[in-house]
Amino acid sequence: MSIFNHPEFNQHEQVSFFQCDKTGLKAIIAVHNTSLGPALGGCRMWSYESDEQALRDVLRLSYSMTYKAAITGLPLGGGKSVIIGDAKKIKTPDLMRAMGRAVETFSGRYIIAEDVGTTVEDMNAIHSETKHVVGIPHSMEGTGDPSPTTALGVYTGLKAAVRYRLHRSDMKGLKVAVQGLGNVGYNLCKLLAKDGVQLLVTDMQQEKVDLAVRELGAKAVSMNDIYSQDADVFSPCALGAVLNDATIKSLKARVVAGAANNQLSEARHGDMLRRLKILYAPDYAINAGGLINVHYEHMSRMAGKAYDRAEVIAHVQKIDGTAESIFRRAEQEGIATSAAADCIAEQRFNALNENQAA
Ligand code: NAD
Repeated sequence: MSIFNHPEFNQHEQVSFFQCDKTGLKAIIAVHNTSLGPALGGCRMWSYESDEQALRDVLRLSYSMTYKAAITGLPLGGGKSVIIGDAKKIKTPDLMRAMGRAVETFSGRYIIAEDVGTTVEDMNAIHSETKHVVGIPHSMEGTGDPSPTTALGVYTGLKAAVRYRLHRSDMKGLKVAVQGLGNVGYNLCKLLAKDGVQLLVTDMQQEKVDLAVRELGAKAVSMNDIYSQDADVFSPCALGAVLNDATIKSLKARVVAGAANNQLSEARHGDMLRRLKILYAPDYAINAGGLINVHYEHMSRMAGKAYDRAEVIAHVQKIDGTAESIFRRAEQEGIATSAAADCIAEQRFNALNENQAA
């Protein structure tokens, strides 16, 4: 397997492989870029079909964390880790502790967090081996699940997009189609419902849909029909790669703003949305609330200071200005919002690289 010539390698600073026979740990930690600060990124545990698939996933995720941290104005770099295996079958506290020892070998250049397949309890097990972990339980001076803060950031970015594209600051009566009612999607729906938004919702799990209908007055929609709803906003909060040739053509919404990572199936779909005059709020620019939260958690723990929730909220609210500057730049330069976001992020981390080289 080629590493340096891998199509997703993208000048990673470090890619390390870990194996522990005693616990069954097989993991990869990828650090893409630390010019702005230590690399912070979640740990995904997944039963990958091959090692190649795991490598591809960790490289893509790590790379996008560099952009997310840079656009959010955080002194952080991009990194990510994957553990190969079915979390339901092989995960044990011993395996997570072995992962903690792997993280410790980075001496703080990589900070681990939870992601798909890992939990706050897993971060607690990791914490017994390294202090370079975030999202640990409240009882351990952590801040627990970052999803509500992610939802707040998505809500902030969604409102900025509505203001820019639909010239509305009052959300009452607006129709928002939400795909995925998980930790982030449901919290987002709660915020939107408070504003009097009409929710159209779908999820693979019927009980989550039923809850939104019952508690938030949402209208249930089938999974296939969510794209073509007569809505003002489409909010992808489930999976990546949902914006593709077929789904974009069926969108009636003029705004796309959601939590899911890597929503564009290919980069060219950013342009396709632009040509159709659909304003796309780039995923990594508006779903950074959780990252902001864990950054402040880590900073306060390292400095021995109390975590200040007000500081976190103030930073999350800056997503409004970030989104607005992305939309303006895209309009001025006649480029996709996804390309505009990339340019702004690259300017930030490349400027520091150049200063360091000088
Ligand atoms: P989650 O697993 O809690 O929720 C995902 C939901 O989507 C589940 O309810 C699932 O049943 C549903 N779903 C899956 N496939 C679907 C489909 N085809 N149609 C409809 N529903 C479907 O995950 P989450 O933590 O809410 O995260 C949602 C998305 O946001 C993910 O893409 C994640 O990577 C991204 N994200 C999450 C955070 C965070 O803080 N949790 C931060 C940044 C980005």
